[in-house]
Amino acid sequence: MGFLAVPKEQVVRIHSSSGTTDKPTIAAYTRRDINTWSEILARGLATAGVTDKDIFQNAFGYGLFTGGMGYHYGVERLGAIVIPAAAGNTRRQITLMQDLGTTVLGCTPSYALIIGETAQELGIDLRKTTKLRLAVCGSEPSSEQMRKEIQDRLGVEVFPDYGLTEANGPGVSIECPQHDGMHIPEDHFIVEVVDPNTGEQLREGQMGELVITTLTKEACPVIRFRTRDITSLTTEACKCGRTLARMSRVGGRTDDMLKVRGVNVFPSQIENVLLQFDGVEPHYVIVVDRRESFSIKELEIWVEVNENIFSDEMQTMRNMEQRLREHLESVLGISTKIKLVEPKTLARSEGKSKRVVDRSDLNNLK
Ligand code: ZN
Repeated sequence: MGFLAVPKEQVVRIHSSSGTTDKPTIAAYTRRDINTWSEILARGLATAGVTDKDIFQNAFGYGLFTGGMGYHYGVERLGAIVIPAAAGNTRRQITLMQDLGTTVLGCTPSYALIIGETAQELGIDLRKTTKLRLAVCGSEPSSEQMRKEIQDRLGVEVFPDYGLTEANGPGVSIECPQHDGMHIPEDHFIVEVVDPNTGEQLREGQMGELVITTLTKEACPVIRFRTRDITSLTTEACKCGRTLARMSRVGGRTDDMLKVRGVNVFPSQIENVLLQFDGVEPHYVIVVDRRESFSIKELEIWVEVNENIFSDEMQTMRNMEQRLREHLESVLGISTKIKLVEPKTLARSEGKSKRVVDRSDLNNLK
């Protein structure tokens, strides 16, 4: 507890990051921190169009992870009804939606896809059998194509949000119905974008690493915290009328960046290209050989295709592989090896999905 900026007696809660990249971050909260965070999330939800008339099914993980409890308190502060469903038990999620009249779903993009897929397997049309109208999806980088994919599968409008444990958790920014950047509550956070290599501040619109200073956190404030998340900023007034700065959707983390023959590529860029193809499912992994060298020569991408493509003749598969390869090369300038895999063979994640795997971990993939 050496990191505290207040006496330990004032702390009322602890959370922790999932520690996907390195050691988990421990975060402590005073009573006022919890209140402030709830207020920020209530405002964020209102930005997305959630009101006190809504029923919010909270399918973010509860526990040390900030998503579950964070949203739980935010929804209550807004005055809407929160269903603390937590992630997992997908059939029950769908039953809850139907029985309790859920109007808003909160979860990771990966879990939203699982819910859509499970409903389809059960022959349930969520559009017809639920009152679901929007989804707040956060806590992992995802592309515009992925947002559209989730919208199609769930039949709802999807609002990406962004947050990190060092800045409370979720609530650092969220999209408004214009879907043109995520609004940042600047009365709580000062944001900058810097060159990840030099630390030099970048101009509006330039992509770089997001740096956050918290203004209202008591127990664990941060000053110019390097988030490793890649985004850009704009202070132009939004068409929704808000004048708060907006950040573009996070395309990746500095440590997710792949260097392929000298070209920097983020998994979300690859995702954006893949999902433009009919027949390609939103499930893929990028296989790299980290032992090989720092700069990867060729990426291998395993991507699920739907039954129509997979059951077809060998020639159709080859054509599809070739088209994907050529398109990735023309858009991103990288050479890839494509492997089409059967539907539902790649691992699903109820939390954050793992897009890049090392060849040595391939056996654990399925
Ligand atoms: Zn707006």
